[in-house]
Amino acid sequence: MPKTSVLGNCFMCGETAAKIAMKNHLIKAHDNGAEPCRLILAEGAYVKNYWLLFSIAIDTPMATVDKFLRQIWCECCGHLSQFDRNQSTKIALLAPKQKISYEYDMGSMTEIVLTVLDEISRPPQKEKICLLARNMPHVEACNTCGAPATFINAWDDAFACAACAQNSEDADAMLPFVNSPRTGVCGYEGTLDRWAFDPHKPFPQIPPASKKQSKAGE
Ligand SMILES: [Zn+2]
Ligand SMILES: [Zn+2]
Ligand SMILES: [Zn+2]
Repeated sequence: MPKTSVLGNCFMCGETAAKIAMKNHLIKAHDNGAEPCRLILAEGAYVKNYWLLFSIAIDTPMATVDKFLRQIWCECCGHLSQFDRNQSTKIALLAPKQKISYEYDMGSMTEIVLTVLDEISRPPQKEKICLLARNMPHVEACNTCGAPATFINAWDDAFACAACAQNSEDADAMLPFVNSPRTGVCGYEGTLDRWAFDPHKPFPQIPPASKKQSKAGE
């Protein structure tokens, strides 16, 4: 059995599986519909047990991918970001197996690698990007007392429970420990991430787009 830290949830049916098994599950169980898409894997470049699998319409500009990655994983202070390719590229121009790297914040950088896994289809929908699966939140112990950690120290990456975070000499450096490769970096708190998996919610789990987002978007 793989460690909990590498398992993820399918947002379409609730299945639990590790990354590669999840990819195979999505292709087998959720490749169905009239809209042609690509199946994309996003991973932290150095922390690969943060991962996302999503379908994306082939006419989607890279700017939409940037917006999605900022919302789910990156945005803290409106830092600059870049792909290692022309931002005007469309997903349709990417071939399976192709990798794209993404950098958010040129100072305290978070690096993400996107891999085009396959051609896939889905029922037509308004959102260009549909999150299909994601790693479960990581479980870490408080470095001081061993209780489950809910904070991370931005200065030294130590984990802390709420009580130890509050009593710490480094209380000012404590950030919420969240499900992103950017956790503990700069001022990242994950406040725009609206894709938390909920086993009690009906499937498929598609987060409601806020009015602001649908106006700005796509
Ligand atoms: Zn599923
Ligand atoms: Zn920042
Ligand atoms: Zn503690």
